Amino acid sequence: MTNPLRDLADGRLCCLNTATLGHREPILTVIDAVARAGFGAISPWRRDVEGHDAAAIGRRIKDAGLVLPGYCRSTYLPATTPDGFRANVEDNRRAISDAASLGAQSFVMVVGGVAEGSKDLDHARRQVEDGTARLLEHGREVGVRIALEPLHPMYAGDRSCLNTLAQALDICDRLDPEPGPDPWLGVAIDCYHCWWDPDRAAGIARAGAARRILGFHVCDWLVPTKDLLLDRGMMGDGVIDIPAIRGEIEAAGYQGPAEVEVFSANDWWQRDREEVLKICRERFATVT
Ligand code: ZN
Repeated sequence: MTNPLRDLADGRLCCLNTATLGHREPILTVIDAVARAGFGAISPWRRDVEGHDAAAIGRRIKDAGLVLPGYCRSTYLPATTPDGFRANVEDNRRAISDAASLGAQSFVMVVGGVAEGSKDLDHARRQVEDGTARLLEHGREVGVRIALEPLHPMYAGDRSCLNTLAQALDICDRLDPEPGPDPWLGVAIDCYHCWWDPDRAAGIARAGAARRILGFHVCDWLVPTKDLLLDRGMMGDGVIDIPAIRGEIEAAGYQGPAEVEVFSANDWWQRDREEVLKICRERFATVT
């Protein structure tokens, strides 16, 4: 089956996740730079926004002609005490309200791994589902979709006990069994986290059939990877067949932007902002 990919030389389909620039500049500066560089979308992080006027930032994004696919990201849900768990849920409710003020299409959930001091992975996963159920309610009330982002299993100990697309979609089906044409609960699919999964293609097709693909993140897997968190590669520099994955996503009906998200403390975060934005656009057009 051939599936002509959409043309990412058209910047409107390109999204800049602000982590790619290393959070070195104020968000308003970054918004303007991203718009000037011809991107069509921007996904900011809470550290860019909290402590500032979210509605004003949202207006600046809109006025710059950008859309905001996903506000990053949740406070980790698992905790060893009921009070700790409730506090984590509350923190996320506030962030989802900010997502609404920003005009974000979705709130990206990186759910957390086993709670500090715990070895109970199953309990962490139950808390994630319970917390997501509560946050889904709030998302519906304020008009923000919840995007569960499964992370590579190397993060199960700290960042995420949600590790495969199938696992995330099972939660979606349990919590939102009758999603309709525009579901409030779905997934953000990140190449970096899903590329290794032998069931990836099936998961993407399943997500697309339920119209649950709320985000598509791209970067590359470097060999060797020198840091588990902060050594992601720019598209084209590693071993992920990104166009193949994008083909699966687009064949599944996804029409949103591709979002570049590169955590790279020793390489890309050291480079000039304009250089990074220019190379992102080039790599979108050529190797994504
Ligand atoms: Zn991601």
